[in-house]
Amino acid sequence: MPALHVPADRAPLDFDVIIVGCGPTGAMLAAELRLHDVRVLVLEKETEPTSFVRIVGLHIRSLELMAMRGLLDRILPHGRRRPAAGFFAAIAKPEPTGLDSAYAYLLGIPQPVIVNLLEEHAIDLGAQIRRGCAVAGVEQDDAGVTVDLADGERLRSRYLVGCDGARSTVRKLLGVGFPGEPARTETLMGEMQVSVPPEEIAAKVAEISETRRPFWLRPFGNGVYSVVVPAAGISDRAEPPTLEDFQHQLRAIAGTDFGVHSPRWLSRFGDATRLAERYRVGRVLLAGDAAHIHPPIGGQGLNLGVQDAVNLGWKLAAQVRGWAPDTLLDTYQAERHPVAADVLDNTRAQAELLSPEPGPQAVRRLLTELMDIDEVNRHLIEKITGIGIRYDFGAGPDLLGRRLRDIAVKQGNLYGLLYGGRGLLLDRTERLTVGGWSDRVAYLSDPTAEVDVPGVLLRPDGHVAWIGDDQQDMEEHLSRWFGEPAH
Ligand SMILES: Cc1cc2nc3c(=O)[nH]c(=O)nc-3n(C[C@H](O)[C@H](O)[C@H](O)COP(=O)(O)OP(=O)(O)OC[C@H]3O[C@@H](n4cnc5c(N)ncnc54)[C@H](O)[C@@H]3O)c2cc1C
Repeated sequence: MPALHVPADRAPLDFDVIIVGCGPTGAMLAAELRLHDVRVLVLEKETEPTSFVRIVGLHIRSLELMAMRGLLDRILPHGRRRPAAGFFAAIAKPEPTGLDSAYAYLLGIPQPVIVNLLEEHAIDLGAQIRRGCAVAGVEQDDAGVTVDLADGERLRSRYLVGCDGARSTVRKLLGVGFPGEPARTETLMGEMQVSVPPEEIAAKVAEISETRRPFWLRPFGNGVYSVVVPAAGISDRAEPPTLEDFQHQLRAIAGTDFGVHSPRWLSRFGDATRLAERYRVGRVLLAGDAAHIHPPIGGQGLNLGVQDAVNLGWKLAAQVRGWAPDTLLDTYQAERHPVAADVLDNTRAQAELLSPEPGPQAVRRLLTELMDIDEVNRHLIEKITGIGIRYDFGAGPDLLGRRLRDIAVKQGNLYGLLYGGRGLLLDRTERLTVGGWSDRVAYLSDPTAEVDVPGVLLRPDGHVAWIGDDQQDMEEHLSRWFGEPAH
């Protein structure tokens, strides 16, 4: 019997949300959606997790988010704590005083470890992850999104999020513009064995890295080094780099290739800077590197993507579950696009400050002096670590739109009350109530809580949605963010 042809827009919906790409952004988003029982499928084209051991820095805001979801204790043993200092254009300064966070440090950690932990967390919460599934086509209609996999399989969901990295297929299929500056320089990075004594390497690297950037050989132990050299003039961009490429560049710069051999992995990255024109087209959204790319100066890309995921997760869940106010999903772009634009700008500024030209070097010297002023140093560190972000929620006290730091409350710590991904009303007046919103917003009465306001309403991402002591005023804000009360 011939198969019945079912038009795509009437085919059954297999999932509420399909996420394309299981990098840090996709894995975090899957977990956030599962906190709200959304049926999630993550499609990842690679059959195995990546072996590129890129050590990344988790910055303060990301550490706070991990603490807010009960993940920090699992992550800390895998990383190395460093002071929250010296990130801006690698200008060496001490940590500024008064960083307003219980997690005021940098955690250096291999990216695959973070991705594995986030993936495990998403699976524990019930997300499905399918590897070896490359998304090749995406079409949307009034009822949902149809996804075509490269092997011909077809799936349907209500929404789809492209977390598929810098070369995002989803972004291209949507036809969303990605304006910005193309890469000016490319860099080779890899891990390999060396055959030369460490002292000899250290002396040569110290001599050369004074004048040549990017250039380093950093020991990992057991004769394994992380090697970074400029890619200028090397092979075809489309082809993966080879060990010979590294040997050639090392000889050209250092006069020796240090006997490098047995590479564990080799990669290449550029310094392009681009920002997607839109983060949402109907039922399809973009997050992480699919929406923004910039050079890795200051180590912000992964942090930005994970923070996109936490901003988007509860809003998309609200949309799927049917309680989202009309404009809620669009606040994702309204809030996150300017944040990414600011990160792109600060990396452009840092790139200038790292240029060896006399003009930028003079600006660097001036900024180095200015950073001796604690407020200047703090402003820059708050910018890079994500704790300086203030979303525009309208007129109000300075805390409105900012994230609230973790504070001690009578039940332990505030972030411990946000694990489930609900909002939270922290009430010091003991007179407020969340009434018909109690399924979406938790309530804590604590007159002694260490916060200088009578009542504060937090969104599930920890940002302050309301401050005050008036029940009616608060209910208007509950409706704005959490929809209609249940009866
Ligand atoms: C050298 C270097 C150092 C860095 N250091 C830092 C740092 O210190 N701190 C920091 O925050 N960031 C850093 N970054 C940036 C960080 O690595 C990225 O921003 C981060 O990986 C982005 O995560 P993502 O999940 O958005 O995208 P990706 O990590 O690119 O993940 C995208 C996933 O989508 C999959 N995919 C792609 N296309 C498809 C498809 N069609 N179908 C299915 N799956 C698909 C890919 O296989 C991949 O798994 C650094 C980057 C570089 C190059």
